[in-house]
Amino acid sequence: MCKILHPLSMLSWKIVKQRLRIKKARPKNSTYNTHKEMARALILTRLQFFNQEGKFTYRRVAIRDQKRCWGSCSSKGNLNFSYKLLFLPPCLRDYIVVHELCHLHVLNHSAEFWQVVAQEMPDYRIRMQTLRSIEKTIGTSITSLKKYQSEHHCSSCEQLQALV
Ligand SMILES: [Zn+2]
Ligand SMILES: [Zn+2]
Repeated sequence: MCKILHPLSMLSWKIVKQRLRIKKARPKNSTYNTHKEMARALILTRLQFFNQEGKFTYRRVAIRDQKRCWGSCSSKGNLNFSYKLLFLPPCLRDYIVVHELCHLHVLNHSAEFWQVVAQEMPDYRIRMQTLRSIEKTIGTSITSLKKYQSEHHCSSCEQLQALV
């Protein structure tokens, strides 16, 4: 079967091919892979830490270059995290880990969900607010996050460091 291609569809095909080429030309380089694996190790350790009692059951844990969110949880019980958690202070990284774990019990952001979060992390609210203000004021580029990380001090992070 032969289709006559409309010029526009020819054009859109060209764009698709260009995008594919860009994707290939921009391979996930080794720095990204290193960051991703470092983030994975940290996140898995914290998932285990917050799930010592085995309250949460999750399946696959994926670390991605997620553009818009720090983490997500699927209805199938798969957890996804951004590799950029590596560049967050430990207290904020922990908040995201706990947030996604709690979605395994309540998938939406209802009052019930926040109750579960509060049980696991009583001071979650301040951590959430700090994260939002970072997003709004300094942004989420690796450079800004690294700078913030190096200048950040808080009692939760100090406690965590004391344990290491
Ligand atoms: Zn959520
Ligand atoms: Zn902190």
